[in-house]
Amino acid sequence: MSNTEHSLRDSTRRIEQFLTQMPSLKSRYQRSRLIRKVLRKSNNYDLTSRCNLFCEGCFYFEGDDYKNATEVTDDDAWEAFFKAQAAAGVSFGFFAGAEPALSQERLLRAAAHIPRGSIHTNGTIRIRPEIPYSIQISVWGDEDTTAHFRGGNVFWKSIRNFANDPRVRFVFTINPNNLAQLPGVVRIMNDYGHRIMFNYFSPTQTYLDKLANGASNDDGFFRISSDNSNMLFNAESLHRSRGVVNELIAQYPGTVIQTRAFNDALTDPKPLYELDEQGVARNCNGRNFDWHQGYRVDMQPSDAKCCMPNVNCEQCRLYTIAIASFIFQPERFLHSLAGFQDWLDICDQFARVCLLETDIEWPSA
Ligand code: SF4
Ligand code: SF4
Repeated sequence: MSNTEHSLRDSTRRIEQFLTQMPSLKSRYQRSRLIRKVLRKSNNYDLTSRCNLFCEGCFYFEGDDYKNATEVTDDDAWEAFFKAQAAAGVSFGFFAGAEPALSQERLLRAAAHIPRGSIHTNGTIRIRPEIPYSIQISVWGDEDTTAHFRGGNVFWKSIRNFANDPRVRFVFTINPNNLAQLPGVVRIMNDYGHRIMFNYFSPTQTYLDKLANGASNDDGFFRISSDNSNMLFNAESLHRSRGVVNELIAQYPGTVIQTRAFNDALTDPKPLYELDEQGVARNCNGRNFDWHQGYRVDMQPSDAKCCMPNVNCEQCRLYTIAIASFIFQPERFLHSLAGFQDWLDICDQFARVCLLETDIEWPSA
């Protein structure tokens, strides 16, 4: 029996024990299985290499990977591509970019074939109401600091563009320098009836190299960072961030959709994944495997390590990939009944973030 089979068998045995101990968890466990079915074959699609912002340390442009592909501009070709993807069994699509809202016709063509998906956008452009995917809008600061971090003051624009849109969840990218802004931003989201969760800044290798080499600032994606002042976390700032976010989770249930369990896992100061000799994560579900594949803007399967090829694995805390990894790795949490409940919370969080409330696979608890 292989190690994987051993681990699977051990996890199943432990889960059965926990369910015997607390039978009321059975329906939640059943739901976690449905959620995993939704993600059974999920692919990532970069729809365009265009963007209208200049976020510091951008994981798309701060590196060379995007230069490997020339964007296909024929929407009929995109439709044929998505049709073939669906025929190959793709159950969920992650649609990113650069900025996918600049290619809405392609989103529509995807939606004609791939039933579920999430769009990862900066929120500056409205997304057509007939596109039936969840929308995750990135936020990098408050009204006063968004321009500093993103090269454009788009804070209110995204909040107003998507008022009363049930597809939307905001995702605040935390770095040690914007932590103090979290309570104010969450209060505004609460006032506007929006939901919000949190991502932790995950540097690209290029960003790290520039800091290490004392590179001069430029007018693109390295405008404000230096060795002395940058967006990297250490154990102390992770600990501080964990505390701030956990307080907001307790204070704003319903508005903050991060779970305490997921937040604690993301702010562990150790790397989230096992690293191989080259420093690449072995057990990250964002890697290009047979059941998850990233496609660049030329519609070709990416030969890079994952859909965020520029990011440094040791410091990677990207929330979508972490949550998709944890869902399929219950063994990380099965040390106790409380750990099992944490894992169920994390499975539910994926559904709350990535599925629409109307989804039949997401019956509310
Ligand atoms: S919105 Fe920001 S992070 Fe996203 S692609 Fe544009 S510049 Fe990069
Ligand atoms: S998504 Fe996975 S493979 Fe990609 S940078 Fe992050 S840890 Fe590494």
